[in-house]
Amino acid sequence: MTDQYTFRNPVTAYPEVSPPKQHQPEPGLDAELMPKADHGEETYHGTGRLEGRKAIVTGADSGIGAAAAIAFAREGADVVLSYLPEEEEDASRIAGIIEAAGRKAVKVPGDLKDSDTCRELVDTAVAVLGGVDILVNNAGKQVAQEELGGITDEQFDHTMKTNVYAMFWLTKEAVKHMPAGSTIINTTSIQAYNPSPTLLDYATTKASINNFTKGLAQQLAPKGIRVNAVAPGPIWTPLQVSSGQPKEKLPDFGKSTPLGRAGQPAELAPAYVFLASAESSYVVGETLNVNGGNPTP
Ligand code: NAD
Ligand code: MG
Repeated sequence: MTDQYTFRNPVTAYPEVSPPKQHQPEPGLDAELMPKADHGEETYHGTGRLEGRKAIVTGADSGIGAAAAIAFAREGADVVLSYLPEEEEDASRIAGIIEAAGRKAVKVPGDLKDSDTCRELVDTAVAVLGGVDILVNNAGKQVAQEELGGITDEQFDHTMKTNVYAMFWLTKEAVKHMPAGSTIINTTSIQAYNPSPTLLDYATTKASINNFTKGLAQQLAPKGIRVNAVAPGPIWTPLQVSSGQPKEKLPDFGKSTPLGRAGQPAELAPAYVFLASAESSYVVGETLNVNGGNPTP
């Protein structure tokens, strides 16, 4: 069986994605993505690295969050899945995969731009799973605009709320419940250091997430809670077809990386598992770049 341990040429390990031009309204559905994204459904092989852990993953219905959620379950964790109500179809599919791995999947739809929804998400996780020891802040909003003037105050506000405020609210609530040994993993981006001119508001949030991670990591380390980040490069997910990229750029998505292709969500999952598991015990405040080779500071 091919799994994440199978040695392959990384240039050709996954099919080259040359996506046709397409558009979906936000937040975009994985069910309608062409071509299909790979979340490790057929390949992720768990080895008990998260046995008995209790995880919250935001944006767990699709893309990178879905790949992390599947991997966590196959490594032995129960998972609370956060997503938007309009993503029920995607979330149900991922929950089914988690249950097939013999783990609990708790679906909690809600809009994380609202602070009460964030607090309730954590409280539900604590009530239903009996605690929380992994928090993955992964939900994100990305809408490309050619001009600064195209970014409305509403877009700016919603991007900040989804990417930065929700991380703050969720983390603040979760740490109240987290025992030593817990881990927090934030999804940042190559955009944190290398901003595209069309993603000003989004890239600003990703720099904030990286900075928050490194500061909070120092504050929580003495309590035994490790905070780290994953910084993906171009990964094939619904975010990219729901205004995340100008439509005409989609066919070349990811081709300018040294590996010459976009990444698949499945290729991110091992980074999240590593940072969530005890084997990364001395890794604190780190940003793990998974980006096909683009240089980072
Ligand atoms: P995705 O669309 O599959 O996942 C994003 C998820 O965010 C959605 O599924 C949705 O459930 C959630 N979300 C958005 N707004 C929300 C809200 N208001 N309330 C609750 N949930 C909300 O796309 P993805 O690419 O897997 O994105 C996951 C993370 O990865 C994001 O933080 C994104 O910025 C980051 N990222 C993606 C790429 C990439 O190329 N795809 C690169 C770097 C970073
Ligand atoms: Mg989604």
